[in-house]
Amino acid sequence: MRGRKKSSHTWVYVIWGLNGSILLIVLIVAVLYTTSLRASAADDLLATAAPQATREIPPTSYFLPTLTPNPLYTPPVFETSTPFALADGPRPTVIGFSLAARPIDVYTLGAGEKEYLIVSGIHGGYEWNTVALANELITYINENPGAIPTDVTLYIIRNMNPDGEARAHDVDGRVNNNGVDLNRNFPSENWTEERDRDGFWIYRPTTGGAYGGSEPETRSVMGFITNHRIEALISYHSAALGVFPGGVPWEEPSKQLAQALSKATGYPYPPIDTGCEYTGTLADWAVENGVGAAVDMELRNHRDTDFEENLKALKVFLNFQP
Ligand SMILES: [Zn+2]
Repeated sequence: MRGRKKSSHTWVYVIWGLNGSILLIVLIVAVLYTTSLRASAADDLLATAAPQATREIPPTSYFLPTLTPNPLYTPPVFETSTPFALADGPRPTVIGFSLAARPIDVYTLGAGEKEYLIVSGIHGGYEWNTVALANELITYINENPGAIPTDVTLYIIRNMNPDGEARAHDVDGRVNNNGVDLNRNFPSENWTEERDRDGFWIYRPTTGGAYGGSEPETRSVMGFITNHRIEALISYHSAALGVFPGGVPWEEPSKQLAQALSKATGYPYPPIDTGCEYTGTLADWAVENGVGAAVDMELRNHRDTDFEENLKALKVFLNFQP
């Protein structure tokens, strides 16, 4: 009995001894591991601090599929609408595309917190001189950045209807490629597909679109406006009828803006009444959707840009508080 007890004691020592040494080994390994981690972290620091530290980047290879051009595919080629690019200066941002996939772009000038917007070319080639005016204004401002007050950002969408502008610089160039008059296509409260055409534009059949905002050009501009807080907006047209305030009936801030712009340019205000009822216009939709004040402003004819007058107008516009 005693001997057996003694030998069982020996086993207990052996087992606990083993346990102890295993624990010891585990501890040693753990300590070694953490020190090596710290060392490699220090290496990393060294590597970032001194580029010559030896840490090789493992070679990486990418397996990209080889593209075989489709022999039947012909890339579409569009005749360029009035080409425009600043030799050096801001690049435009594309806000959308016309039906024929021409880009509709916006120039951002200045960097202040108050945002103003000029839209040209809504009536395409029929009013191509508004696009020419926008180009002149962008070029001028790029060379004279002081023209923008420090608290102002001015956006210029220089050509809202590039397909119409590319089609023809006459009555045929007014509508977009769906035959829609874009300044009748905005989903303002008074939008309508067909209008009483008395006193209105009768040179070609046009429509306000299948529904308000049906056209991609219209939606591009709507998207831009709803994503910004626009203090005031000028939508440029030609020709001769004057300055039309936004709103049905005309809203007070838009009337004040129209009056101030008329004073600076000599364009008629109140505008000449042809008896036409305007529906679905950009200016009306804009004031119904958060823009402080908006006007349709018509150049004197279909040929000149009236640059000097519109430079004065720009100053009045960018200092206007709706
Ligand atoms: Zn027009």
